[in-house]
Amino acid sequence: MKLKELKTDKGTIYQCSCCGQVYDELPLTFGNDFPDYYFSIPHSEREARIEIKESLCVVDDKHFFHRGRLTLPIVDRGQDLVFNVWTSISEDNFIKRNNLWNSSERVNEDPYFGWLQTTIPTYGDTLNLKTIAIENEAGLIPTIKMIEDNHPLTVDQKNGITFDKALKIVDFILTSGHERTAEKDQ
Ligand SMILES: [Zn+2]
Repeated sequence: MKLKELKTDKGTIYQCSCCGQVYDELPLTFGNDFPDYYFSIPHSEREARIEIKESLCVVDDKHFFHRGRLTLPIVDRGQDLVFNVWTSISEDNFIKRNNLWNSSERVNEDPYFGWLQTTIPTYGDTLNLKTIAIENEAGLIPTIKMIEDNHPLTVDQKNGITFDKALKIVDFILTSGHERTAEKDQ
């Protein structure tokens, strides 16, 4: 752990022990701009082969992805640790999801099966774990529910995590690039 919790007059802040960077609030929402598959396409070919728009992505007109929200409840804080993640989605469901984007009826749809396309830090290899995407009200991306049997991410989503564990995950995400940056500065 590099983030140290400090109590100040203005409340709790977090300071990195390697470089001194201060976080007034602990960020609890993280996201990825692209599905993992995106990075397997060579740089020079991405523009021609990939269509990406907000929470939807199509590669070569045959690989379909969408973005949803994966939350881990922090049981002792009444807050969630949130990851905006990508999953695969079948072509039929992709078309359906597109058509229903503004529909208030879409909450009645069956969940869409998909393979996780985002690495969740500290959970090892999370690519291609089984998920379902559950539609939310119009204007909101779906809720991603982990259904991969016995995976720690599935267990933590179901049972929740402690604030201490959330802090360790956030610490890893925020400070993993720090030492490199600090070395460069010297
Ligand atoms: Zn640091």
